[in-house]
Amino acid sequence: MEDKSVKNKQRCSFCGRTEAEVGFLITGLNACICDSCAEQAHEIIEEAMRQKKKTADLNLDELPKPRDIKAFLDQYVIGQDDAKRYLSVAVYNHYKRLLQPASPDDVEIEKSNIIMVGSTGTGKTLLARTIAKLLHVPFTIVDATVLTEAGYVGEDIESILTRLLQVADYNVADAERGIVFIDEIDKIARKGDNPSITRDVSGEGVQQGLLKLLEGSVVNVPPQGGRKHPEQKMIPVNTKNILFICGGAFDGIERKIAQRLNANVVGYGAVKETVKIDRSNLMQYIAPQDLKAFGLIPEIIGRLPILTYLNPLDRAALRRILTEPKNSIIKQYVKLFEMDGVKLTFQPEVFEYIVDKAIEYKLGARGLRSIVEAIMIDTMFELPSSETKSFTVTLDFAKKQMEKVNFSRLQLA
Ligand code: ADP
Repeated sequence: MEDKSVKNKQRCSFCGRTEAEVGFLITGLNACICDSCAEQAHEIIEEAMRQKKKTADLNLDELPKPRDIKAFLDQYVIGQDDAKRYLSVAVYNHYKRLLQPASPDDVEIEKSNIIMVGSTGTGKTLLARTIAKLLHVPFTIVDATVLTEAGYVGEDIESILTRLLQVADYNVADAERGIVFIDEIDKIARKGDNPSITRDVSGEGVQQGLLKLLEGSVVNVPPQGGRKHPEQKMIPVNTKNILFICGGAFDGIERKIAQRLNANVVGYGAVKETVKIDRSNLMQYIAPQDLKAFGLIPEIIGRLPILTYLNPLDRAALRRILTEPKNSIIKQYVKLFEMDGVKLTFQPEVFEYIVDKAIEYKLGARGLRSIVEAIMIDTMFELPSSETKSFTVTLDFAKKQMEKVNFSRLQLA
């Protein structure tokens, strides 16, 4: 009885309802708040913060410097120093461009769009996603494979900017300062180096369209994207200040690089004998003419003046990826078990074994997760219903679990 009266005395200081009338009442020093008022307050704060972030003018002193940006990327992405440095500088310079005074006498800083070349699964998208976390401007990732020329099945080039408009809450001025990451840019390459023989619509037409966006022009963007809403009113967006970062695997481009390097060696043979070429990683020698040989039109290449590459991931890199990043795969599993009150540990040899398997089945960094998942699946199924408070993954256990797996399925992953 007494309990009930106490319950009814406590009221939410915001809506006045008693504890009995609400789902949950949080008691502070001199006030209480109920669950629904707390939720509302949360929404109000979120909205206010969003507005603040949007309207806050960029201030160069407060913005992270290239070194800070790289240090941040280092927490999540292993290696790829070259790409990280280029990206950090590009983002910082993008801010500077946005801050430059609009005086006609001033030297105008032109934008420097970037292109990153590197085999699939080496961290291009991860870099883009990570950098997005600390950006002070709208950012979106789009996939070039969905683009085809107008009139063909697929998205129009302009729809690249639809996503940017959406993340900017349709604030056009904000979107016009944003950054767009175009993934799989290599998929719109012309199929050969010779433009004159047959016109390759799927590639070259899209590149011409993309060129318009890269160079800076006013583009009519469908606010809903796609062609499913023919009645929608287009929104004009100026791309002059939008930074474009492109990424692609450019499968087989190493051959073009090798051809070029070999040709050079013949040409300067006698003089350049001392230059040693690391044949295990040709990507580091990438040059604009290789992109042309791959099938990008020169105008596009010219509009992507910063060219950087990602290294292939070797054994040591894979081993580090497993445990070192801030949200590494292993850390994620430890956390999953922690939520059930179970302390999960791994024998160090297990990590070597996982990397061995990823290499053996040519799964790369993406495969690491599938392998760990295969090793842990039975334990994840059983443990939450048992009394066990700690679990160590031994090498024997890992091997036994892997034997159960249908490897051909893993290889397709
Ligand atoms: P890409 O875009 O180059 O094809 P992703 O960035 O999508 O490759 O990488 C696939 C996954 O592999 C990532 O989600 C991440 O888990 C892992 N990975 C790849 N490269 C790295 C790296 N350099 N550091 C940390 N993790 C990586």
